[in-house]
Amino acid sequence: MEIEFMGGAGEVGRSGILLKGETNIMLDYGIKIDIKTEYPLKPKKVDACVISHAHLDHSGNVPALYRLGSPQTFATEPTFRLAELLIKDSIKLNKKKHESMKFGNKDLTMLMHRSRSLGYNEEVKFGNAIITLQDAGHICGSAITSVETGGMRIAYTGDLKVSPQLLHKGAEQVECDVLITESTYATRDHPGRENLISQFIDSVKEVIDNRGIALVPVFAVGRAQEILTILGKHHLAEKVFLDGMAAKATEIVLEYPEYVSNYGLLKDSMNRATVIKKHEERSAALEGGNIIVTTAGMLNGGPVLNYITRLNERSMIFLTGYQAENTNGRRLLNDMPLIIDDQKRHIPTPFVFYDFSAHAGQEDLRKYVKGSGAETIICVHGDEESTLDFSNWLSGEGFTAYAPKVGDTIRLK
Ligand SMILES: [Zn+2]
Ligand SMILES: [Zn+2]
Repeated sequence: MEIEFMGGAGEVGRSGILLKGETNIMLDYGIKIDIKTEYPLKPKKVDACVISHAHLDHSGNVPALYRLGSPQTFATEPTFRLAELLIKDSIKLNKKKHESMKFGNKDLTMLMHRSRSLGYNEEVKFGNAIITLQDAGHICGSAITSVETGGMRIAYTGDLKVSPQLLHKGAEQVECDVLITESTYATRDHPGRENLISQFIDSVKEVIDNRGIALVPVFAVGRAQEILTILGKHHLAEKVFLDGMAAKATEIVLEYPEYVSNYGLLKDSMNRATVIKKHEERSAALEGGNIIVTTAGMLNGGPVLNYITRLNERSMIFLTGYQAENTNGRRLLNDMPLIIDDQKRHIPTPFVFYDFSAHAGQEDLRKYVKGSGAETIICVHGDEESTLDFSNWLSGEGFTAYAPKVGDTIRLK
């Protein structure tokens, strides 16, 4: 048995892990969004693919596998639906940017034809392997994948959140021999959630009570629903205007009550919020005293750019997630002008950053990995510093640990 790292090793983005044995199984096959989209390495042969969750860094290049063959692809049902939404949007975006693509709408259709939905803890046999998904607690439908083959159980966390969020109860503990784990925050912990939420709510209230606009850029899948529900829980849903992919993704999530905690609260918050359907409706949202929850979370396109240049002087921008390098979000954090329609624009509106991460922090990750019972741990989905630091710590604790780079292969005994 060999594991080849096609992407997402020593980096965040374009995740792709190929289990090579009698049958070849690809775990995730995503893209990395940078100035130019980056893709994972191309495999020779793939018999099956498992998508851990809908985010494009895990799902965004799966359709390209249908240019090489016709693998069966497994994921939870909401993952397929949400990934389809995000991938369609990325195809549109690339056409607009005149960027060449590794696949088109036809390949996405092929993928949906060859999709096989799995519920959590439902076993499926593929070739000589048994595949199982468990709740990863990260976003709606997110899964930890276990593959049992050749008397060995290999598990892959995908993106993992151990402690509960409002909409997810936290990851189920996996048990395995070899664990491939994400390492995004292997070097630091997140602030306590309860405190963070009360600070966020106080700050949003202060802005809107003062007739400013609270602009909250969010990722369409996950963060949008979590933030909407947090605002709803604090009786602010009526003030919310929801725009762009954030609204569409929330509608899909609402079709899967069994994949969400506090479903009633999400549904109620969505019902109370105003969904923007047409461009003309945006002026109403820009009246002082409103909260605008909209994509893109890293300010790299989407309706948020429509709003950000039109805020009144009492407004505030609330960043709620990771801002990758070379994005407008990172430029804002670094007090640099944003790039909107190819032009540099200085944004005078003050901003704050709230760490609403849907990834496990250092302490949770360490506990989770130990709880798996695995002797071999492979650290991926983190920058080089994080994956190396994590694997060094694991070696010190007596594990056989690796921090592979893209293109590396690990042979399992
Ligand atoms: Zn994710
Ligand atoms: Zn990820």
